[in-house]
Amino acid sequence: MSEYKINTRCVQGGYTPGNGEPRQVPIIQSTTFKYDTSEAMGKLFDLEESGYFYTRLQNPTNDHVAAKIAELEGGTAAMLTSSGQAANFFALFNICECGSHIVASSSIYGGTFNLIAVTMAKMGITATFVSPDCTEEELNAAFQENTRAVFGETIANPALTVLDIEKFAKAAHSHGVPLIVDNTFPTPINCRPIEWGADIVTHSTTKYMDGHGAAVGGAIVDSGKFDWMAHAEKFPGLCTPDESYHGITYAEKFGKEGAFITKCTAQLMRDFGCIQSPQNAFILNLGLESLHVRMPRHVENGQAVAEFLLNHPKVAYVNYSGLPSDKYYALAQKYLPKGGCGVVSFGLKGGRKAAEAFMKNLKLAAIETHVADARTCCLNPATSTHRQMNDEQLKAAGVPAELIRISCGIEDKEDLIADLAQALEKC
Ligand SMILES: *Cc1c(COP(=O)(O)O)cnc(C)c1O
Repeated sequence: MSEYKINTRCVQGGYTPGNGEPRQVPIIQSTTFKYDTSEAMGKLFDLEESGYFYTRLQNPTNDHVAAKIAELEGGTAAMLTSSGQAANFFALFNICECGSHIVASSSIYGGTFNLIAVTMAKMGITATFVSPDCTEEELNAAFQENTRAVFGETIANPALTVLDIEKFAKAAHSHGVPLIVDNTFPTPINCRPIEWGADIVTHSTTKYMDGHGAAVGGAIVDSGKFDWMAHAEKFPGLCTPDESYHGITYAEKFGKEGAFITKCTAQLMRDFGCIQSPQNAFILNLGLESLHVRMPRHVENGQAVAEFLLNHPKVAYVNYSGLPSDKYYALAQKYLPKGGCGVVSFGLKGGRKAAEAFMKNLKLAAIETHVADARTCCLNPATSTHRQMNDEQLKAAGVPAELIRISCGIEDKEDLIADLAQALEKC
């Protein structure tokens, strides 16, 4: 499918039925797979042949959908995981172990920050967080002898900062480690981090890829470009024999193109089992079939809402990288020329009280913690997800009391603006 444009890959990538086969990706609702001889099955266990034996590790439905995502991102291999959290954990843990260190952007999803700063720290994997706006010197200073990966988000959830992917890739590569980019918010329709030097791309497919708030899931894509063997001393898991698979060395046997995903499947899926159900993979694929149609509408609505808010007398500030006044406008012009996503955040001049009244009066936009789906949703962290914090703590956490995040869906933008206007009227 790589000869076709991305819109065509969204619709038909990953699965090409043969004569008389189902047109839609079949849901292989089976935990296990049958073989005629023990020898035939043994070859799979030795990674001598590729095939399926148990859905905890791999399932054909998932693999079709993962292959489509690899085609969209321009990668060589991909896998689905049960959630975005699992995707980021696997992507990091596939090359980190006790004693390793990660350099990460400080502007990332709260769940991922907690995963790296708290849970992975308990495994003996430490991290240094750097501002996405840091200078090259500051970024290079964050590296240590034991650094094994660099991590950031193309557009951060919820801060909406834009990552300078080339700057982070250059620093990662000059220290002999890969750059992992979580590309959940722009999706490959609006940005393909591999084209800018990222080595591994992750997704919470729960968001725009599914796009209908129907199925939690994640994905990992390998660019196939990072030369593990050139830095073999840093990545023994990929570059020395795996005794649990009869001594194969992933980077030798599967090359740059396949080593990362094969090891991640063979070891981490085997041991942690965070597989996406084939049913969810099927739902995800339905979302992917219209991703290229939905993303431009999310961007159109996000842009219209951001411009409306910017000019409203009760609004103190608006964060949206499509606004020329935004701090990230220049980076967005470079990395996101077709626009970023439908998520906009803004602050009300009236503070917490105004935010509360605004939220109460919304009619069309639903109050949800979710983002990035077809229906518009809205959140005031201070009065919901972060309600245990006082105003000072909220400010320190980057979610001041007056901050509202709106995830613009694909409804008519005039209805969205009318809803915001009437709610602003009453606050
Ligand atoms: C939601 C989200 C995650 C976590 O994904 P889940 O599917 O909820 O586990 C990770 N990264 C980003 C950028 C997200 O928005």
